[in-house]
Amino acid sequence: MNTDKQFPDAGFSVELIIQALSYSPEATAIYSSEDMIIRFANEGMLGVWGKTATVIGKPLMEALPELEDQPFFALLQKVWHSGETYSVKDAPVRVLKNGISTLDFYDYEYRALRDEKGKTWCILNTARKVTSRREYLQKIQHKEENEQALIEEMATTMEELSSTNEDLNRSLKLLGESREHVKTIIEQAPVGIAVLEGPEHIIEIANPAILKIWGRKLSEVKGLPHAVARPELIGQPVNRWLTEVFETGKRRKNDEFLVRLLDKDGLREAIVNSIYQPVFSSDGKVTGVLVILDEITQQVLDRRASEKDQQMLTMATVAGELATFYYEPETNQFSGNDLLKSWFGLSGENNMELETAVSAIFEEDRVRVAEAITQSFNSSDGHYFIEYRIYHPGDPKDRLVQAIGKVFYNHNGKATLNGTLRDITEQKKDEQRKDDFMGMVSHELKTPLTSLNAYLQLMQRTAMLTGNTSQQNIIEKSTRQVRNMTAMINSFLNISRLDSGRMLVNKTPFDLGLLMKELEEETLSIIHTHQIFFEKVASVELNADREKIAQVLHNLIGNAVKYSPMNTAITISSSSIINERVSITVEDKGMGISEADQEQIFERYYRIKNPQLGSIAGFGIGLYLCKEIAELHQGRIIVESTINKGSAFTLELPL
Ligand code: ADP
Repeated sequence: MNTDKQFPDAGFSVELIIQALSYSPEATAIYSSEDMIIRFANEGMLGVWGKTATVIGKPLMEALPELEDQPFFALLQKVWHSGETYSVKDAPVRVLKNGISTLDFYDYEYRALRDEKGKTWCILNTARKVTSRREYLQKIQHKEENEQALIEEMATTMEELSSTNEDLNRSLKLLGESREHVKTIIEQAPVGIAVLEGPEHIIEIANPAILKIWGRKLSEVKGLPHAVARPELIGQPVNRWLTEVFETGKRRKNDEFLVRLLDKDGLREAIVNSIYQPVFSSDGKVTGVLVILDEITQQVLDRRASEKDQQMLTMATVAGELATFYYEPETNQFSGNDLLKSWFGLSGENNMELETAVSAIFEEDRVRVAEAITQSFNSSDGHYFIEYRIYHPGDPKDRLVQAIGKVFYNHNGKATLNGTLRDITEQKKDEQRKDDFMGMVSHELKTPLTSLNAYLQLMQRTAMLTGNTSQQNIIEKSTRQVRNMTAMINSFLNISRLDSGRMLVNKTPFDLGLLMKELEEETLSIIHTHQIFFEKVASVELNADREKIAQVLHNLIGNAVKYSPMNTAITISSSSIINERVSITVEDKGMGISEADQEQIFERYYRIKNPQLGSIAGFGIGLYLCKEIAELHQGRIIVESTINKGSAFTLELPL
């Protein structure tokens, strides 16, 4: 290096520059010639190399042989020849420091300094260690990477969070909904529900059903201790039970418990079912009591009433020796009380098929029974009435039973025939005995009565001849009484004939108009107590038992007279012919017959139980005979009547 080279500005010598450079904080070296003789190296550069100043003046490669396999020398050569500056950033440099190969990174520059002719006369080498910056950058990069990772992680976390949040929101919504749901359920529950909190049983929730039972409004009780809100319970055990449940954590249940509750006008007695359920916190402590209350007053009262009814019914059936039965066509099951079972020889069995029951019925009666059952299910009123005979198992005696029943339909439309069976064997025998007796007596009475009648007629003739009017009068009255008695005896005889199947109808053709005319004359001559009107009956030919038809009409007129006050009107009229049938009606303005009695007056020996009738004589057989006679003619008798207004009996006969 030409250190003596002069710069244009004298006094600013190369030495000065070198001195200045030696203070430069930047590592600096200067090389000259193609061999890169180290002309200058400041402390900084010597530090980079890990060498002392002894290297100055030596060719570079000699001073730092470790650079052999690194590009520096070649690069310097290139700069030397081309004169172009080479600078690089962050390049690795390996040197031996204290015999240890050390790798560092540098920004360095080889700058060719050229003379006026453009020839390179030295190379200025500056270098700046970048390891710390690099580390810093690396750190930053690392940090950035970290941050990036962190950001990514955060993003993922955020995403997760947001999805968790959505989940949470959804759960919250569901929770809200389910809370609403629970609230609605509690609000609308048909049983009373209340939630009481803490040892004081503060009323937190009380649904409308429980408020109704309590007789309270929500505003009166909410937030108050139960005992304070409902003072009507003083002296009753409810609050004590609540405390017990709260303290013991044991649920309590009461069935059909009688409690006095608040009512508009004081207290009322109610029957309730209740449950007191402790409510636990997550750590197992009792925090309150859930109350469930159901009022069953009406049901219990109804049940008790029906139990009472049932008891009374059982008593009545036992006392009346009634067998009860029911028959369900859907299942074909037949059953009843113990008495029924014993009659049908079925004790022990719960129920049986109808066929089993039928086998206990007399063979001749079975078809009738089956028909009556079918009829009751098909008819609009569902009535069932029949008398039939059953074998008495284990007893040679047969039993005559009277069945009365009715078809009932449950809410599903399922039909059952329910009813009672009465053993009328003895009753029928009594009636038979009575009939036999009456038949016998009547028969015996008939002969003397016929003689009596004959003698009276003789007496009448004598009295007429002698002109003894008072005697005539008495004889006429006697004759009338004998006639009455004969009619009565005839009725009894008819009954016994009817029963023995000996009552025959002797049908002959006759004019109904004429019969009515005779009847009119006869009636008007005998009866003077009432106003009797016979409307004209057109002449109609009937083929019937004239005597018996006359008997029926006599009977109806006789009843009209018997059961209506003196001087009232009795009208006998006939209808025009409809459907080949003719009818005669006897109408009175008498006491009338109730609807219930109307159904029974045609039964044998039936008389209406009426204190007013106490004085009116009769046996309750007149209408029974009338009905039988009408039916023997394929006709019928119809009654229409209103109590205290009057009655109308119509005999209807086919032409
Ligand atoms: P008896 O007249 O002998 O009692 P009946 O068989 O003729 O028997 O009549 C049965 C019952 O019907 C009577 O007891 C009476 O109570 C009632 N009865 C019959 N006819 C009439 C009528 N025209 N008005 C009111 N009740 C009547």
